[in-house]
Amino acid sequence: MNAPLPNQTLNAVQASDLAALPLIEKWVSFASVSRDSNLPIIEFTRELLESHGAQCRLSYDDSGKKANLWATLPAADGETKTGGLVLSGHTDVVPVDGQPWDTDPFKAEVIGDKLFGRGVTDMKSFSATALMMLPELARRKLKRPLHFAFSYDEEVGCIGVRRLIADMVDQGFRPAGCIVGEPTGMQVVIAHKGKHAYKTSVRGFEAHSSLTPQGVNAVEIACEFVANLKAMHRRLVEHGPFDEIFDVPHTTIHTGVIAGGTALNIIPRDCDVTWEIRHHHLNAPVLLFNEAKAFADSLLPAMHAVAPDTGITHKLNSVLPGFATDAGSDIARLCFACADVDASTGAGKVSFGTEAALFHQVGVPTIVCGPGHIAQAHQPNEWVTLEQLAWCERFMRRLANEICLN
Ligand SMILES: [Zn+2]
Repeated sequence: MNAPLPNQTLNAVQASDLAALPLIEKWVSFASVSRDSNLPIIEFTRELLESHGAQCRLSYDDSGKKANLWATLPAADGETKTGGLVLSGHTDVVPVDGQPWDTDPFKAEVIGDKLFGRGVTDMKSFSATALMMLPELARRKLKRPLHFAFSYDEEVGCIGVRRLIADMVDQGFRPAGCIVGEPTGMQVVIAHKGKHAYKTSVRGFEAHSSLTPQGVNAVEIACEFVANLKAMHRRLVEHGPFDEIFDVPHTTIHTGVIAGGTALNIIPRDCDVTWEIRHHHLNAPVLLFNEAKAFADSLLPAMHAVAPDTGITHKLNSVLPGFATDAGSDIARLCFACADVDASTGAGKVSFGTEAALFHQVGVPTIVCGPGHIAQAHQPNEWVTLEQLAWCERFMRRLANEICLN
């Protein structure tokens, strides 16, 4: 079950109450869809950060058309490397192609009590709100360094941030904590599931469809494999193991794509199945994969009896680790205080993956906390309530009180 949202409600928020709104609008105006260059938004942001005294580093993808931005506001004593926080967000957004938008997706627009635009929830509002604080942070001086981490290609598999983190480690930065501003409704999320994505390929044997005993039907064998995945999933739903703090309290197994066959009168030779395991810490994904593979292996003797060149192969396409941060850690306590949620009941765990796991992996305790809800992410007419934006501003102002000298 999800932890409850903060119980305080803000008075009806007006657009004019939101100091970060102009910067959110500016960030949304960059159409930084993952497939395109993100250099315009990175260059704008680098200039803004440097104008407030931040030291910036860019790390590029192989094409040179996309970059991560790592920026450090030094502590009052000049320290830049050790301790302090990272505020992290991705600059890319998912495409709008084919989606029925009622507004221009790259022109943020306030309508009623909501702000509409691509990325207002996932996840430009958090980053822009953090940047809004720059003049105040520079004026009030920092106890420890503060880092901003803005990545490319999050939406296509958390690709960019891996280089940013490698560079961070190479350069000797050792932050004490990280806040990733993915949409959590400003709930303090201390864990998310990991994901293993696979492609299973069935190689059958072609024959005329009137001669089924002489062929090996790859589509039908793939369907048996998928049906077994579904049976494994049902067992997890019914018997767990369960971690009730997660929004979906059990590990899940899901098939996303089946592709195979060419015509009704041909016994299909090939069929590919793309599927995933999303696991919490109580399940080892490798054991579940081994179980699925053992089932596939059990189908082989009958296939080989008809045609020896048939088979079933599996490829691990991607791994995003899960993460879990102690609810009693310094970074969690800081976020509970800034988000104004109760530490004993307010910690959340979610099933979607984020860059948090990759910071966690190199020893940086990480929290996910940002405005908006994942249900609005990637949708046409993506929106965030003005109240959520006000929550985020309040979070940042409280954070400034914690991390500034005066
Ligand atoms: Zn996101």
